[in-house]
This record gives sequence, C-alpha cells and structure tokens, in this order.
Amino acid sequence: MKVLVVNCGSSSVKYTLFDMDKESKIAWGLIECIGLDKCFYKRESVNFPEKKETVRVTNHIQAVELIINELLDKNCGSISDIKEISVVGHRIVHGGEKFLQPVVVTEYAKECLKECFPLAPLHMPAHYDGITAVEKLLPGITSVLVFDTAFHQTIPDYAYMYALPYKFYEKDHIRKYGFHGTSHNYVACKAAEFLGKPLKNLKIITAHLGNGSSLAAIENGKVVDTSMGFTPLQGIVMGSRCGDIDAAIIAYLIDIYPEYKNSDALNNLLNKESGLLGISGVSADMRAILEAAASGSKKSELAFNMLCYSVKKYIGSFYAALNGIDLLVFTAGIGENSYPVREKVCQNLEALGIELDTEKNKENSQNIRCISKPNSKVKVLIIPTNEELMIARISKQLIGS
Ligand code: AMP
Repeated sequence: MKVLVVNCGSSSVKYTLFDMDKESKIAWGLIECIGLDKCFYKRESVNFPEKKETVRVTNHIQAVELIINELLDKNCGSISDIKEISVVGHRIVHGGEKFLQPVVVTEYAKECLKECFPLAPLHMPAHYDGITAVEKLLPGITSVLVFDTAFHQTIPDYAYMYALPYKFYEKDHIRKYGFHGTSHNYVACKAAEFLGKPLKNLKIITAHLGNGSSLAAIENGKVVDTSMGFTPLQGIVMGSRCGDIDAAIIAYLIDIYPEYKNSDALNNLLNKESGLLGISGVSADMRAILEAAASGSKKSELAFNMLCYSVKKYIGSFYAALNGIDLLVFTAGIGENSYPVREKVCQNLEALGIELDTEKNKENSQNIRCISKPNSKVKVLIIPTNEELMIARISKQLIGS
C-alpha cells in the first residue's frame, strides 16, 4: 500500500511517498519559497539520486501539481498511475478544539478547518490550498488530516487554561493547544516498543528540541501537559523564539517603542528575532552557537545555558505533574544530535533519578539508543523522530477502519 504524506507550510510543500507494507520511503522532496521569483525544488527517490533546480511556482496548487506530475513521470517517476496511492495524509498545524483526532477529509471537515484559520493564519490557508490541490489532482483518492494539536487534546482543563477572564476562552478560544503532537506521539510509541513495555504502563517526558521545541508529559500514552501554548511561541527558549516571558513585557514594549504597536512587528520580534539568535546575536542554529561559544562568544554561551536551563525546568515541572517518570526521551535536530545540550540538561538531575552516561551520550549514531547509566532510575533515550511516517501510519489506519 502506498501512502503520500503532504506537508504544506506557509511558503513550502514537503512530501514523502511511503510503501506502507514495508514502512519505507519511496520518494521524497520539497518545494520552498513558493510565490517568490525563484522557488527551490529538491527531490529524491529510492531509484533516483537527489535532484535540485529552481522553478517558478506561484501557489500551493502549482507546487502539488509539479510534485504529482514528477511522481508520475515515465522516466524518473515512482508510480505509473495515481490509483497506486491509497490515501494522502496531510499534516495540519492547528485543529483548535474542533479536531480531537485525525479525520478523513469531507466538505464538513473543510468547513471546520476554515474556522481554525485565525488560530494559525500563516499555515492554515496553505494547508487548505494543499488539500484542494490534492482533491483536484488526485480525484477519488481519500485524504486524511493529521493535526499537530490533536495528541495534546487529553490535557486537563486546569493545565490548558490561562488565568485570563473566562470569556476569552469562550469567545476567542484562547487556551493552551500544544504542538509537535505527531512527533511526541511517534517517539513515545517508539520508546515503549524499544523497551518492550506497554505504553499504558509508562510515564514519559518527551523533549522535541529543534528550531522549534516543546516538551510533553505523557502518562498511559496520553498527554497531561506540554510546554507550547496557544501558539508555538510559549515554552522553552528556541532558535529564534523567546519562549516563556513575563506577559507584562509586551505592554511595556508597546508603551516604549511605537513600532511595536503593530502586532506584526511584535510577533516578528518574539518569533523571529529572539531565542538563541536574539541573545547570541550570532545565529538561531545550535551548531553555530556551539562553535561561537567554543571560540569565546560569551553571549552564545549564555544563549546555550539559557536554552538548557529552560528545558531542565520543564523536566522538573513535568516530573512533578506526573509524580515521577520512567523515561526521558530526546528527539529532533538538537535532541538527536547535540550531546552538549543533553549533557547540560541532565546535569545535576540525580535527585530525580536521571543519571546520564556521558560517554554513551557522546556517541554519534542515527539509531534509537539508551544514554543513561545502567542503574539510572529514569531511562534516557534518543529516538529519531519521524512525523511523516506517523502521519502515513495514521492515514493508513483511518482508511482501514
Ligand atoms: P530541526 O528543527 O529538528 O530540524 O532541528 C534544527 C536544529 O537542530 C538546529 O538548531 C540545528 O543546529 C540542530 N542540529 C542539527 N544537527 C546538529 C548537530 N549535529 N549538532 C548540534 N545541533 C544540531
């Protein structure tokens, strides 16, 4: 069975075609900078090496069309008929309170999706265009929507509410939603599989540390809290996002700097100019921060310390929320690859039963592995995330049922 996973960002389309009988990738790629003069199109497949070129694509429909035409190409394609695709899984950033779980696309689902546009105005219209494009280009093939927020829908009200007047929740749906749900879900399942224990018997903290980062507290396979909030800005220090700050700083900035009376400028400051980048003045990328810190940049060292400390604090608070944990899982670009971050985060957490094996932590590998000492009460694992495969699995499951 072949499953196509489509991820439409605000100006990009990523895709992976899976052979779900083997859970292996057949073809994958992305188109970036949609709408600009030059778009970058990169793709690869099991049969053909990576190919890169600049193309002109003005919208998501054209991008999806380009991808599907190439998948069908007689010379370098991966399928000979669109009917070979059993289902298309779309990654959707925000399901609000409308979508508690993945759904098959129907006219009703699309109407409900439109109601979620204000919650993620950059991403949701792009997702919608992607769905429309797939419907047009792959007629008769079922599409499934898989939401980043859905896995967090088990968070209890006392954890997802903000202590603002209640009307803002009722009228404007302001509450914690959480993000990276598909990744947290995938690595939690993989962790249980790796240990050979049922997920329902485990208390896990998953740390998805990438450009955007979030932690989730998971009990019996259900999320009880997460660090991101109403938007993906809340939580730990990220590449260019500030994470948790005193909300009164916003009003203070608006009073002092006239330019921040504009919400776009303010959002830009908090989402694109802060975090590692804002503190270091060097980069939002952890590799560059580590290099700069090693060359004596004090601000880069501070940015690194701030990020690690913010992760450590969430581990402590989720440990309390779960009344202890069995597992701590690191995933995503930083979580999987940056041993100094893992070492710093886990330093002095023996009181919580977390004891890292610093040598194992430094080993370079792409495999799932345990990096805690044999007698550590809490097992610390590295699990490479695979959101696309999770979306493919969910999509396959949904059409099966
Ligand atoms: P992601 O958003 O999951 O792609 O993660 C991107 C982040 O992972 C960036 O901050 C990268 O610097 C970081 N990253 C990727 N590879 C490494 C590595 N080998 N060492 C340190 N950080 C890395």
